[in-house]
Amino acid sequence: MSALPDIRSADPETLRARFRDWSQPAYRVDQLLHWLYARRAAAWDEMSNLPRALREQLAVAYSLTLPQALRVQGAGDTTRKFLWRLADGSLVESVLIPANPALYGDRSDRHTLCISTQVGCAYGCQFCASGLDGWKRNLQAHEILGQVLAVERWNAERSEGAHSETSRLISNIVVMGMGEPMANYAQVMDALRALNAPWGGGIGARKITLSTSGVVPGIRKLADDPLQFRLAISLHGATDEIRDRIMPVNRKHPIADLAAACRYYVERKGKMITLEYILIAGVNADPAQAAPLAALARDLHAKVNLIPYNRVEGLPWERPAEPDCRAFAEALRAGGVTATLRLEKGHDIDAACGQLRLRTEREIAQVAAV
Ligand code: SAH
Ligand code: SF4
Repeated sequence: MSALPDIRSADPETLRARFRDWSQPAYRVDQLLHWLYARRAAAWDEMSNLPRALREQLAVAYSLTLPQALRVQGAGDTTRKFLWRLADGSLVESVLIPANPALYGDRSDRHTLCISTQVGCAYGCQFCASGLDGWKRNLQAHEILGQVLAVERWNAERSEGAHSETSRLISNIVVMGMGEPMANYAQVMDALRALNAPWGGGIGARKITLSTSGVVPGIRKLADDPLQFRLAISLHGATDEIRDRIMPVNRKHPIADLAAACRYYVERKGKMITLEYILIAGVNADPAQAAPLAALARDLHAKVNLIPYNRVEGLPWERPAEPDCRAFAEALRAGGVTATLRLEKGHDIDAACGQLRLRTEREIAQVAAV
């Protein structure tokens, strides 16, 4: 990996100071930012309106990299999965999900991108592919926001002029890929700030959602941050007994502490949070679990997103039958809670986070062993 800092991890104030030192006029920084974020440049030579000498000076001080697509799965206007290779060879994933116009009554060209924040994950939730091979490293800010830019670049190349080079494909971001964002807080926030900023991605803060497995100090930090990002909690169990069993994070931050942090966030932000709840047969999907979940959701004024479990190769967990999923959703609604049942898109393309990477890593290891 290059020893130079990547230019997309440098904040604009630092760049402005540097350009002043280099006796460059201020508008050159704006031109550079336009190349970095609107045009998603992948090489200095693309920046045709910057003087060659300046480009050379930049190349000595900074690296300029975007994640490289190693695999793209999915076709047409369906969910697509991107497996990226980073500069050091690490693999991470993003998932592109088209908005469902029937569901949202919205323009149909809107897309949500689900992005990763770490290579692997240290949190070791029992059901999740991302943590199966442990944690390798944190992503840097440019590797996190680079997933968005690289997808947009891929789209611009693919649609060959159907979109202008600067038109935006991605309108929403969910930080629900591989990794625990609260365990890489500073880099994640730098990346999201750039994706949100007018000089950067220009994506509204309300269209950016962070998901956490329940890292309480991170939730409190986010509540105190002036940026208005949304928050989702991967709850998956409404009692400590169940959460302790499937999510080790609960032993450090049990439900009472998690709920207190959520209440603090809701009070500070005046915003609803979402509780994500995967339905796993024989674990947390018993109708008896709907009562404590509804009580918690009512207490937090939260809505609940139910997601039938996606099978992970090598793990024993299964989703309940569809009528059981519907019955669970109904029980929540009967308890006065807004609940959606996401009959998962992309079930067929390893949509659960971490799976494509895991499979590819194992294939590469097999090839290397031959
Ligand atoms: N670490 C953070 C961010 C990743 S979000 C968090 O856990 O919130 C990834 C989401 O996908 C989490 O809600 C996670 O619980 C869920 N998930 C993991 N494995 C899954 C699977 N096999 N099927 C469905 N959802 C899964
Ligand atoms: Fe990590 Fe989230 Fe997967 Fe748990 S669910 S292992 S915290 S990515």
